[in-house]
Amino acid sequence: MNNEDESTLPQQGGKNMTRDEKRSNDIPESAVKTCNFDLIVAGCNTRCRHCYVNGGPGGMMPLADFLDALEKLDALAELLPYEAEFTLDNEPMNHPDIGVIIHAAAAAEHIRYFHHGMTAGIALMARKDREKVMRAYLDRGFRDFGITVHGNVAHHDMIVRREGARRTASEAAEYMRACGAEIGVSLMFNRFFREDADEIDALLERLRPDWIYIAVPNFTPHKNMMDFEPFRGTLEALHGLRTHFALRGQRNEKPPEGVFTPGMLIKRLEGGPDIAELFLQPQDEMYLTVHPDGNLFYGNTGAETECLGNMRTLDIPAAARRIRELPGNRDWGAFYDAGLLPGREEMIRALKRVPGDLAYSDMASVVYRALAETGIPTKIK
Ligand code: SF4
Repeated sequence: MNNEDESTLPQQGGKNMTRDEKRSNDIPESAVKTCNFDLIVAGCNTRCRHCYVNGGPGGMMPLADFLDALEKLDALAELLPYEAEFTLDNEPMNHPDIGVIIHAAAAAEHIRYFHHGMTAGIALMARKDREKVMRAYLDRGFRDFGITVHGNVAHHDMIVRREGARRTASEAAEYMRACGAEIGVSLMFNRFFREDADEIDALLERLRPDWIYIAVPNFTPHKNMMDFEPFRGTLEALHGLRTHFALRGQRNEKPPEGVFTPGMLIKRLEGGPDIAELFLQPQDEMYLTVHPDGNLFYGNTGAETECLGNMRTLDIPAAARRIRELPGNRDWGAFYDAGLLPGREEMIRALKRVPGDLAYSDMASVVYRALAETGIPTKIK
């Protein structure tokens, strides 16, 4: 961590700085516009095969550590010329003190927005105080909740690797709705969806969600993502399903945009620029992660590339300065060093080893899938 020139940064507690004032030192203008802090407060109840944040059962952040970390992140956010948000991960409803956590999160001064919406529902339904937990969210204005559906009961439970998970997710959706929440369903597309379409429809009919979203899993070089590959569906099947759900009159279903296949990338590589350019492009989103032990990392969960210190002892101005020196890290260069990338011919050979019509959420996912096939090292520690 670079401690030089701390005096050029406003000290903790300085109020009402404009974004220009925050930028007013010798650090070059950054392309970064938003910054998301991922606070891992409790582990998950499932081990989803498509998980791109290395979720799963895990440790709990003690309440005192969470409150201390939140206060310091808020002070850190004040020193950054970016819009700051945070995400409570992985399954905050597993935390015994979730009511206090929600209250504190809602009161943060410089981190204006936090994400909380999707849940497996297992943690909530296992709690005796679930009504109080829902009230904590609703009283602070958080009304939108979502569950993810992976197909019929057997396929869903197999994808998330937890028996009873789909039954509990639908019970949780009904319970949250009864408490006054708005409920969404994310349909996480996989190769079982065509055969499971009628059962998925029956569930949607029962839940009558406020929104439905057909999600196509992405691919990143996180440690478990190859586990989902045998279950990935094709673009042809995806197009069929969009018509299917639309015909059955579901509300607000959004078609996935930008879905990409290995076949499309081969065509693009044959006629277009080298992929290395993509890895050098400036990125406007930055991800930072706080682990349950308080360590603050540069990188999204499961893709951490630098430890910036521990929240208990963090030198906030020094951390702010280091963060401002770092580039955005949502994609591309966040995972791979551009200097190590294979050439076009090797990429095409790797892509030809993957079924050409498989659907990925975006072009970046297909590039990472090909890179995983080549076996080149990632930056992820
Ligand atoms: S997808 Fe969500 S619920 Fe599933 S393992 Fe990952 S973080 Fe946990």
